[in-house]
Amino acid sequence: MEEQIFDLTGGLLCLDFANTVDDRTDEHPQEHLVGYDDLVEWSKQAQVLSEQEARRLLEKAAKRVSEANSVLKRAVEVREAIFRIFKAVAEERPPDNEDLVLLSTLVAEAQKHARILPGTHGFHWDWVGTGSELDCMLWSVVQSAADFLTSDELDTVRVCASDTCNWLFIDTSKNHSRRWCNMKSCGNREKARRFYSRKKSSVSTVS
Ligand SMILES: [Zn+2]
Repeated sequence: MEEQIFDLTGGLLCLDFANTVDDRTDEHPQEHLVGYDDLVEWSKQAQVLSEQEARRLLEKAAKRVSEANSVLKRAVEVREAIFRIFKAVAEERPPDNEDLVLLSTLVAEAQKHARILPGTHGFHWDWVGTGSELDCMLWSVVQSAADFLTSDELDTVRVCASDTCNWLFIDTSKNHSRRWCNMKSCGNREKARRFYSRKKSSVSTVS
């Protein structure tokens, strides 16, 4: 099976997760999380899951199809909540309380799997059960969203300036002027669109 390559240019795990659908406001949005295996593939590319954990989850999902499907459904639900929350923040609007409640609930659930583990230099937080619980990739995603939402970096979140794209990203440019999720795709498409509409309007003034 051909695996898709995910574009991870959001700059943060939760934003990259929100960016797994293209052209959300277009007539034909493109969903990249069509099956549970897409969710696992994204998690692998986003380094939430190791190769081995991903393989174990796919094996488990093959035996528990309906459970895997409901994890996918929840993943899309929480992705949309994360999208709406950060889009609101980027547009300086208050997010919906319902979305904040959903995120908080999922973070609380995720944290049941968090443990403080000793390392070579001190201690660190880690998840126990990644690679065995079908929804384990969502723990890191919701934690990332909660951490970012409560951080003082929050004012760096932007929504792509393209009309339909709606991808989210962190603007780390020096003068805070980044407007597109990706200059190569959206930036160029938008420039071309403006160029042609300018051309069209100058033609119509002549005629
Ligand atoms: Zn874009």
